[in-house]
Amino acid sequence: MNIVLFGPPGAGKGTQADNLVKYFNLYKISTGDLLRNEIKNNTELSKKINKNINKGELAPDDVINSLIVRILSDRKFYNRLIFDGYPRNINQAINLDKLLKEYNQKISLVINLDVSKDLIIKRILGRQICNKCGLIFNKYFVNLENNDHKCDPKYLETRADDNEDTAINRFETYLQKTLPILNYYKNQNLLHSINGNDDISSIFDQIRSIIPSLEA
Ligand code: AMP
Repeated sequence: MNIVLFGPPGAGKGTQADNLVKYFNLYKISTGDLLRNEIKNNTELSKKINKNINKGELAPDDVINSLIVRILSDRKFYNRLIFDGYPRNINQAINLDKLLKEYNQKISLVINLDVSKDLIIKRILGRQICNKCGLIFNKYFVNLENNDHKCDPKYLETRADDNEDTAINRFETYLQKTLPILNYYKNQNLLHSINGNDDISSIFDQIRSIIPSLEA
């Protein structure tokens, strides 16, 4: 089962992907995390993407495609993927279908987290990520599910692109480039929309209620 988690920046895709990983034993593939990792390790690829990320624009498709090929060609991930923040434009969606076919896989479901713009900005500006274990928190919301977080609070960091200007640009990029993909998946009968304005556990309950019917 491969799942695409779809939604604007700050919709809660990463948080719900982490829940799915725990519950269904899947692997989260966040292209944002993969890109940040390239930047952290100062790789050849990082030179091509730093500026895009800081401006809230998309990284080039060829960079993203090479990262995705690495994942799809790895047997460890076979048919156990949750795509978080990918695909981000129609070219990437078409390319993903092509690659999945090549690697004898498919998308089972696309979950669209539908969230209001006001809430998105609050979620982005409050977001904190544990630099040690990767878990996501928010200083504006009490996150009961993560009470068992054991790392020292000193590891909590704000992402460089989680500032107001970049957040607004990222939302604009989403409207222009990413949102049109919804129709592409609707036409393939893969799309399930969920009210992403709820709290974390209610959203996850909605997601869970879709997934067993797919596995049956
Ligand atoms: P995210 O962690 O998903 O919020 O992504 C952070 C930033 O990484 C985005 O604003 C883009 O600049 C870049 N990015 C992440 N995923 C993609 C993608 N699939 N295609 C192009 N750029 C991406």
